[in-house]
Amino acid sequence: MLPPEVLHEFSKSVINYKKTGYSILELPHRSTAFMDIMAECTALVKELCRIGDDFEVLWMQGGGRAQFGMVPMNFLGPNDVAGYIDSGHWAAEAAAYAMMLNKNTSVLSSTKAINYCELPSINLKLPAKLKYLHLTTNNTIYGTQFSTIPDFKVPVVADMSSDIFSVQRDYSKFGLFYAVAQKNLGTPGTTMVAVRKDFLANQQTYIAPAFSYTKHLQAGNLLNTPNVSGIYVTLLMLRWTKQQGLAAIEKNNREKAALLYNAIDANKTFVPHVKKTSDRSLMNVCFTMNNKDAEARFVKLCEQEQIVGIEGHRSVGGFRVSLYNAVTTDHVKTLVEIIEKI
Ligand code: PMP
Repeated sequence: MLPPEVLHEFSKSVINYKKTGYSILELPHRSTAFMDIMAECTALVKELCRIGDDFEVLWMQGGGRAQFGMVPMNFLGPNDVAGYIDSGHWAAEAAAYAMMLNKNTSVLSSTKAINYCELPSINLKLPAKLKYLHLTTNNTIYGTQFSTIPDFKVPVVADMSSDIFSVQRDYSKFGLFYAVAQKNLGTPGTTMVAVRKDFLANQQTYIAPAFSYTKHLQAGNLLNTPNVSGIYVTLLMLRWTKQQGLAAIEKNNREKAALLYNAIDANKTFVPHVKKTSDRSLMNVCFTMNNKDAEARFVKLCEQEQIVGIEGHRSVGGFRVSLYNAVTTDHVKTLVEIIEKI
């Protein structure tokens, strides 16, 4: 979901962007107006993450998967070693990309054997000379989330696609973090990448420019044509996020998740995928139902309230309710009433 204010503002700009007489969909990517949009996006990310000029921010295409490839391409030479935490589908895919590109990379910890119904341990004895450790802060498909990240003594690369700005984190301790826009940052087609300059200083030199962070930065994020209108939606989302405040957003997300998990736990027809409460995601609540008739009734009642798109991933089955930042407590209450009726 996107907040109504964002949809309203964007719709105005489709007809006439800031009274310029042209649409945001027509805005040239080299125009001053677009430079201003990107600069404000970057400034807002730095402000919200409380990171300074020791970080660079990029607005990229190719989604999460492009980052799965770009991270090892940029940081791993043939003799380097990276470690991956396998906490879910996307974490495993990120690891698979890296292992395809680098023979020394391995998965250090995984809960694949129990269908990712818990988080893997991250209190690890890390291999020597790890170039970076990759983890996924929130596991969209299985509904687990790392609420805290220990102080690893190596650079941490984090995929924050499905929980960026949902909770307060110490962003300054990451070497690189990335997030696709289509959850808490806007619409598909834009990926935010924030990278520490000192980590980037170790970048490999022989990379095709389109896949090199340094080349994108040197080109002022204009190496290839950025997703102009998508980045504008992201700007509107970032302004909205700042206006709400991260503390208020986190409080709201905790309240929404508690309402939903409590309702599911109280009704034996519903079976939560993640039993360990400390591992539960605030963003994606995954569950199955133990009664086919009740399942059909549940889907029907949800549809009547315009609660749609809640089917779970094929590897988990059942349902996945996403509580991204724009979902309100009232939306969740509507769903809870349905759960209580089943
Ligand atoms: N990482 C996470 C945590 C995701 O949830 C997703 C997809 N929703 C991806 C990566 C992949 O993103 P994309 O489809 O943009 O490649």
